[in-house]
Amino acid sequence: MFEVREKSVILENGNEIPLVGFGTWPMKGDECYHAIRKAIENGYRHFDTAFHYQNEDAVGRAINDAIEEKKLTRSDFFVTSKLADHHKMPGTPTKMIDHQLEKLGLEYIDLYLIHSPWSLVPTEDLLSMEKKKDASGKLEMIDTPLTETWRELEKAIKSLGVSNFSSSQISDILKICKHRPQMNQVECHPLFPQDELLHFCHEEKINLTAYSPLGGVSREIAETKTKNFEFMKNETILKIAAELEKDPAQVLLKFQVRRGIIVIPKSANDERQKSNKDLFSFDFSKEQLAELESMNGGKEGRGWTEERVSHSKYFPW
Ligand code: NDP
Repeated sequence: MFEVREKSVILENGNEIPLVGFGTWPMKGDECYHAIRKAIENGYRHFDTAFHYQNEDAVGRAINDAIEEKKLTRSDFFVTSKLADHHKMPGTPTKMIDHQLEKLGLEYIDLYLIHSPWSLVPTEDLLSMEKKKDASGKLEMIDTPLTETWRELEKAIKSLGVSNFSSSQISDILKICKHRPQMNQVECHPLFPQDELLHFCHEEKINLTAYSPLGGVSREIAETKTKNFEFMKNETILKIAAELEKDPAQVLLKFQVRRGIIVIPKSANDERQKSNKDLFSFDFSKEQLAELESMNGGKEGRGWTEERVSHSKYFPW
């Protein structure tokens, strides 16, 4: 079964996931805890985290406290987490699921994604964020096939997906899998709308989640080149927002959800959390939609270029 509904998607495995989720990176500790408590008050039930974000403890604490105090149950929530790039050595993925569940303080994860197709080498401390580099300062890679990682994950968890994968990498998984991938989480916004990947994924009954849907990509990130798109100052976005009497962010998010794409905007701000969820009482005219579609920047529209890992055999783009 795979069905896009008005405010949610029924994944192929039958799990229902809200179309508007909440991104938790780069918040950590108490900032993350309080933002999530606020988000739960504001009606969010779908949270996106990862080992890399180093905030699974805060995410889990906020959800568990809300369950205790607000008469909610675990099944009210949808929690996505991810296998880190340096945790793909055989035997490690299953260990990491146990570790991440313990950090989250949850009995299960609703959806577990392979964070990226490239595979880095950890230092002796598997739980550190440090990765090994060669003498020239380049990140070292391991060569575990993605299909091997998938097979190992399948033994521990049924609701699985990928992130930053190309369609050919997903095809490789589809050839060998027992449990089909449910999701591909990728950068997606009007400058980089991922039309071909969306078509491929929907044909295969795999959902797409848009990360950096507001252009969060514009942040400075150590070792990772990103581009500053300044969507909130973009003329086309501002014009359509004014015509509809909506925020620029609502225009960016609506563009995705009306295509059946899940969005996970991050906001620590109460008002912005509320407006980012308020996407279902308006739509674009044909002309507005054509203007948004004409923003497609082709390859140049990708903000996360990730040159630091472009020497990986599994680099996807
Ligand atoms: P977003 O596109 O969600 O942008 C976040 C930024 O936009 C923040 O600075 C936020 O500030 C601001 N913002 C939020 N709402 C509004 C609004 N209504 N108007 C104006 N500004 C607003 O970027 P992210 O890169 O954080 O992507 C979202 C999530 O995607 C991440 O949190 C993470 O969970 C996931 N992700 C996954 C990746 C992957 O490889 N799988 C890579 C990158 C992200 P403020 O908090 O002050 O509102």
